[in-house]
Amino acid sequence: MQIYINEEFCKGCGFCVHFCPTKVLVMSNKLCPKGNFVAVVKDPDKCTACRLCELVCPDFAISIEADEKPTGILREEKQGENLQNSF
Ligand code: SF4
Ligand code: SF4
Repeated sequence: MQIYINEEFCKGCGFCVHFCPTKVLVMSNKLCPKGNFVAVVKDPDKCTACRLCELVCPDFAISIEADEKPTGILREEKQGENLQNSF
């Protein structure tokens, strides 16, 4: 699992920190070139790859590269398989 934060895109709104259910991210006191405090990864082992941070980031500054697909997608794929098999 890799969590990438593009510091040049981050405007320091803190949405990702607030919404991450497992508190993986924190705001840092590090300034990006545009003068914003940026979000950083504090506890990557707690990341469940739910991708909520990607969804709420208004500036597309976060991307998650999961080793495995999240359970929700697997479930959808299984339902799709079942539908295909029923025709
Ligand atoms: S993918 Fe989910 S658990 Fe991982 S950092 Fe983003 S919000 Fe937190
Ligand atoms: S939601 Fe995006 S812009 Fe806001 S602090 Fe997090 S990474 Fe930065």
